Amino acid sequence: MDPLLQVKDLHVSFSTYGGDVKAVRGVNFTLNQGETLAIVGESGCGKSVTARSIMRLIPPHNGRITKGQVIFKGEDLVDLEEREMRNIRGSEISMIFQDAMTALNPTISIGKQITEGIIRHQKVSSGEARKQAIEILHLVGIANPEQRLKQYLYQFSGGMRQRIMIAIALVCKPSVLIADEPTTALDVTIQAQILELFKDIQRKTGVSIIIITHDLGVVAKMADRVNVMYAGKVVETGTVQDIFRNPQHPYTKGLLASMPRLDADRNKSLLPIFGTPPDLFAPPAGCAFAARCEYALEVCRNYQPNYTRLSEHHQVACWLQDPRAKNVVYPARRAAGT
Ligand code: SF4
Repeated sequence: MDPLLQVKDLHVSFSTYGGDVKAVRGVNFTLNQGETLAIVGESGCGKSVTARSIMRLIPPHNGRITKGQVIFKGEDLVDLEEREMRNIRGSEISMIFQDAMTALNPTISIGKQITEGIIRHQKVSSGEARKQAIEILHLVGIANPEQRLKQYLYQFSGGMRQRIMIAIALVCKPSVLIADEPTTALDVTIQAQILELFKDIQRKTGVSIIIITHDLGVVAKMADRVNVMYAGKVVETGTVQDIFRNPQHPYTKGLLASMPRLDADRNKSLLPIFGTPPDLFAPPAGCAFAARCEYALEVCRNYQPNYTRLSEHHQVACWLQDPRAKNVVYPARRAAGT
C-alpha cells in the first residue's frame, strides 16, 4: 500500500540580512495510514519548519521551499496554488500548535471558531455546523458542550484550551494531524491526559499523526516510528523500539543519555551533549554533528555520511555504521588498549 504522505528531499531556506539559513537540508520520510510518527530533536533542528512546510505555512516574506516534494494522496503539495492549499489545510491536513492562547482568537467565541471551519470546508448550514461542533467537543472530553460553545478562551483552563484546539483541528475529519509540541505548555498530569486523548481519537478516527517534540517521554508514549533530526537533517529513523533499545547515531545516544529515567542510578548525573549545533548559514561539508561527536573521524568532517539500512525500518546517517567502517577503533577501546 502506498504511504499517505511522502516527504522527498525537502530543502527549506530563510533569507535574512546575514544570508540564507538552510533550516531543512534534504529531509525524507513517509507517513502511513493510522500511524504516529514522532519528529524529535533539539530547538532549531528543523522539525517545526519541516512540519510547517507540509502545510505550506512557512512565512512567505523570507521562507521558501527550495527543493523537494510533499506528496499527499498522489499530489505534490509544493506545486499547489495557495487557493488549492487552503482547501487542504484544515480539511485534509490539520495542525495543532503549542499554545492555544496564541493560536486561537481570544475575542471570538469557541463555537464560532469551531463552526467557521466546518462551514467553509463542508458548505453546511450553521445549524448542522453547530451539531458537529457539539459532537467534536464531546469527543475531546469537554462537558456541557452546548453551553461551552458560547464561551471564550479565557473561561477555559490550559488543558481545556488544548482540547479545544484538538477539536478545531479534527472537526473536518482530516487524514493527517500535525501536532507541534502539543503538550509542552502543560503540566505533566494534563500532558498525560492530552496524550491519552490523541491515542483515543486515533483509535476512533484512524487519523495519522505527526508529533513534533523535544520530549522523548512523549515519543515513547505516542509514536510508532521516530525521526531524529539534527541540523536540518534526519540522522536516524526507526521504530520506537529501534530508537529506544538500539540507538545507533551518537546524537540519538546523547539525547537518550540526557533524559532522566526512573530506573537510573540517582547518584549519577545526567550526561549533557556538549557544544552547540552548527551554523546553518554555512553548514559543515561533512557530518553536522562532528564538532560534538566523541567518535568523529577525519572522514566525518569532510564528507556527509550516507544512510545505512540496519533493518526494515531502521536507518542511520553515520560513518560508523557504513559497511566500510568495520575496522574503526572506538576512543574508549583505544584508551583501554583492547
Ligand atoms: Fe559522529 Fe562521524 Fe557518525 Fe557524525 S558521522 S555522528 S561525526 S561518527
